[in-house]
Amino acid sequence: MIRLLLTKFKNILLLLIMSAMVLSSANTAHGNDYFKYSVGEDYIKVSVETMATQQRQCEVVVRAGEYQGKAGKRIYVNNCTVHLPDDIPVRNDNDGRGFYVSEWDINVKEAKALVNKLQSMGVNAKLQVATTKAEDLNAAGRIANKSNPYLYVSIHHNSYESNSTGYFGMYNPKNEASKQAAIRLSNAIQNNGQVPKRDNRPNTGYIGEMNVINSTTTPVLLELGFFSNIEELEEICSDSYVNYVSTNLAKEIQKMLNENYR
Ligand SMILES: [Zn+2]
Repeated sequence: MIRLLLTKFKNILLLLIMSAMVLSSANTAHGNDYFKYSVGEDYIKVSVETMATQQRQCEVVVRAGEYQGKAGKRIYVNNCTVHLPDDIPVRNDNDGRGFYVSEWDINVKEAKALVNKLQSMGVNAKLQVATTKAEDLNAAGRIANKSNPYLYVSIHHNSYESNSTGYFGMYNPKNEASKQAAIRLSNAIQNNGQVPKRDNRPNTGYIGEMNVINSTTTPVLLELGFFSNIEELEEICSDSYVNYVSTNLAKEIQKMLNENYR
């Protein structure tokens, strides 16, 4: 009985913590990707939904994480001094908070480039972009499940401190193929010369999209650099970084498909 009460208390506490996190991310300029990964494994279990095997409609789904202008997934910038290519918009909501870059725009650039490279190599790849909140988080995983790909690659960029740096892969700790995919894909881009490699991380926190991916699909989430660091923001948006990362991820994905999936 006491045990049961303790468990209940833990769940309620967790709900309170999560609510506070959601509220704080909505009210601050910095995102909290870093915090959500720190939630202990004891509290939230990663669950994998199994569904009836569906026709494979493509080999790889590349998802551009988040959706346009998502609160907490943006960095406010000085629009006069920041150096960004034309395809990364500097947005302004005219709410007195000034100009910002949305993580979504960076994710879309990288994800589009990756799909283009994959398709040019003959891989049947599909781009998945959320136009609204309704296609984010768990819904993003469920949308991908309809295509039943071999691989689900979700592209993100991170936000924490203004001097945070590096990229890493996230994987489902209950799925060895997911872990191997994170290792292979993060190793494939380690010589990019601009953004350092960090340790890959198990997805023990709340990342809705990976929690609902079919057991017939290997999920991996890539955090390809910190947009909260202006110097790194300029690097991860640059054509040279996007070109290097998309080319080398595509080559490794093609190898993985040939060795393990096709
Ligand atoms: Zn993200």
